[in-house]
Order: sequence, then C-alpha cells, then structure tokens
Amino acid sequence: MSTTTNPVVLLPPEKMPKQWINLVPYIGYDLPLISPQTLEPGTPEEAMMIFSKDCVLQEVSQEPAIDIPDELREMYYYANRPTPLVRALRLEKAIGIDADTDGIKIYYKNESVSPAGSHKTNTALAQAYYARKNGIECLATETGAGQWGSALSYACALFGLKCRVYMVRASYKQKPYRGILMRTYGAEVWPSPSDQTDVGNTFLEQDPDHPGSLGIAISEAVEDCIKHNDNTRYSLGSVVNHVVLHQTIIGQEAKAQMEMLGEYPDIIIACHGGGSNFSGLTFPFLIDKIEDRKPDLRIIAAEPTAAPKLTKGVYTFDYGDTGHFAPIVKMYTIGSSFVPSPIHAGGLRYHGASPLVSMALNKGLIEADMLKQTEVIEAGVTFARTEGFPPAPESCHAVLEAIKQAKAAKENRENKIILFNLSGHGYFDLGAYQAYLDGNLEDFELPTAQIKESLKSLPQVSFG
Ligand SMILES: *Cc1c(COP(=O)(O)O)cnc(C)c1O
Repeated sequence: MSTTTNPVVLLPPEKMPKQWINLVPYIGYDLPLISPQTLEPGTPEEAMMIFSKDCVLQEVSQEPAIDIPDELREMYYYANRPTPLVRALRLEKAIGIDADTDGIKIYYKNESVSPAGSHKTNTALAQAYYARKNGIECLATETGAGQWGSALSYACALFGLKCRVYMVRASYKQKPYRGILMRTYGAEVWPSPSDQTDVGNTFLEQDPDHPGSLGIAISEAVEDCIKHNDNTRYSLGSVVNHVVLHQTIIGQEAKAQMEMLGEYPDIIIACHGGGSNFSGLTFPFLIDKIEDRKPDLRIIAAEPTAAPKLTKGVYTFDYGDTGHFAPIVKMYTIGSSFVPSPIHAGGLRYHGASPLVSMALNKGLIEADMLKQTEVIEAGVTFARTEGFPPAPESCHAVLEAIKQAKAAKENRENKIILFNLSGHGYFDLGAYQAYLDGNLEDFELPTAQIKESLKSLPQVSFG
C-alpha cells in the first residue's frame, strides 16, 4: 500500500449493522444478577424496577443476535454512524514503521465523532429509545468524569426524555464544561452528594462540601429512580450485558470496513474501564476465535496501573458499586471499596469489569496489559501531532498499547495488522495534556496493599 492511498474507510450508510451481537450464547454465559440485599439471584421483575423493561430482557437474553429497531438506526445516523475506520499512517511513520517495507499496519475505529464525544452514545441512544418505548419519562444516572452524563443527556434530548444526572462533586468543580454540556442538552445536573436524596443529605450533613464519589452518586441515582418509580428508571453506561450488547455495533462496522480492504486484524486493542468500548470493538471478532475460524487472533485490553482489575484482580462475585445498591455480578475485581488514585483517565477508575469480558479473560480468550499514566498521555500527544486530534485519556491507553505491539512486531520482523478503538476525543480533558506539557504528570505505584485490603470485603454469595 502506498502512503498516498486514502487512509479513511467509510462504510456506506445502508451497510450499518441491523442487529447487535450477543456474546452470551457463544461463550456459554449463564450467571444471574445477584441482589445486594438478599445475596440471592434477583428476578427480572426486580431488575425492571431499576432498568427499563426491554433492557432487562436483553440483559438475560440467550439469543445470538438482537434486532436494532429502525428508529434507533436512524438516530445512529444523526450520531455520525457508521464511524470511520482510519489507517494511522502518520502515527506509524512517527514510531518508525515503514508502510512500504515493514508489513505492519495500524488501524483505528474513530468513535470520537459522536456528538457527545465518545462511544457511550451507542448505548445512551438505545437506552433512551427503550425507556420511551416502555413509557418511561425520565432517566436518572451518575457520572464521574462526565462522559456518560453527556452521552445520556444528549440521547434523552433526542428522544424527548428528562434526564437527571448526579455528578461527583470533585469532577463537577474540576470539569465544569461537561456539566454545562449536559445542561445545554436539557438535563438537570447536581453535584453529588446533593440535597435531592436521603443518601445525599446524609453525606452533606457530615460535610456540606463533600467531594463525593462514584459510589455515592450511584446510590443517589438509584434512590431517585426508586422514589419516582412511576416514570423514572436508572441507566448505566458500562459493565452490564445490555450495555456491551449495544456497543457491538462498533466491531461489526469495523469488520465490514476491514473486509472492504480485504483484511482481517491480527491484534485488536481497546482500553478497559468497565469494558463497554472493549467489548463493542472486540466481541464480533472474538466470535471468530471462539468458533475456531481465527484461532491465532490476539485481543488485548489496556488498563491503568492505578486500577488494574484484569491484571491484578480476582475472578469472583462482587458488588457493582461502593454503596452496595447495584447488582452483584461475577467479574474480575479489585474490591468495591477500592479508591483509585486520581488519574486523568477517570473512565478507567472502576473497580470491576464486565462479566462477559471477565469470562473471556478467565477462559484465556483475551489478554490484558497494564500501562503507566505518563507513557499513556505521551502516546496521546504523539497521536495528536500525527493523526490530528487529542484522544481522551482513556483512549490514550489503546494508542499506547497499539504502539507497543507495532514496535514488538517490527522487532520480531512479523507482518501484523493492528486495530484499536479510539473510544473518544480529549477536548474536555485538556488538563491531562496540560499536566504533560508542563511536566507535572504523575505516575502512581501499583496499589498492591490497597487491593489486598479492599478484597477483604467481598460479599458472601452462596450461588454457584
Ligand atoms: C467511559 C469511557 C471509557 C471507559 O469505559 P468502558 O466501558 O470501559 O469503555 C473509555 N473511553 C472513553 C472515551 C470513555 O468515555
């Protein structure tokens, strides 16, 4: 391939996938959601008090594929789907790969083109669609860094729903523009802990300027949902099966785009927080590995040293949140009371991993790698200077892992096609780039002792 070839592969609109792919039957997943109150498997009816009915049905579905409704596909067009697949020719060159002689190619799927700036729009639009279909008028949620809150606010605006967002107070203050974006979309946004809920008021009594945490914010959003249960449901942006299902549109598009080039990747990479963008890109390819069509395919999850659940966690039942309101699932975890260091990749600070990703890792179908913040953001700077825009700090983990794999392939004189997910842009996260440019970027030690401590408080689930 000559370096003058157009590096951008666009999928014709009519080729946008018509179904999501459900990994559940392919991998043999049959574990229930466990209630945090009873420590017993919960019923779908209980789950329907928290999540929209159709989302619960998808959560427990054993179907290999689920139709994407036509009206939702139309909304995906508005959200700039299908998204581009790009050959990162200029990044390759910058890291010493010769496009004409080395036989190494790096591609990325660009999910940053979504109006809210990340892949999270894919599930936000689906959840807003089903909420409206099920007669729900309002979605309540929490947000940390603000990417999920932005995506859900956007989706609720397009489907005519109300949106109530509890945003961790520390982030609300540090990242005011995310909050303003949500309010621009019409959402109500409160710094959490807030005076809107009993949980919030309890924490405010202790400290009127409490910095908050994701655990407290989740508790507030769930309480809001239960209190207004006639018209409100709670919405999650990652981890659970119906969310990763919605994201599989990414990988199906990428597969079709690679096919247009007559290619198939050897190594697929995505960053991993709760696992949704990772699942979205990789699951449609993983099925080829499970069914032995691509036995040598390597799939790598890139996570931060500061919250290393896949590389240093244990595979067990654990609480989904610090406040123990969300369902218990079997996953790789570093313990629900784990408090990660304040890395810039806020979306990767979660203590657990998607149950489906966890099962794939446990079966040896995928790998995980742990990366340091300074090198991660440096990779993002290299990407910005070559490909033209700053990736989200989360996405920078995928960029760095792709660079590592390309360099290893060159050293071993192997022809490798590498595909990674560019899950979002970093225009709201320029603080990370500022720290890098000013020489203030920190690395954090591997939190070994803290993980050991946090893993002492696992729930005693009798199931399985
Ligand atoms: C939220 C977020 C992530 C991490 O969440 P996953 O569910 O692991 O994908 C990664 N990248 C971006 C841009 C995000 O907004």
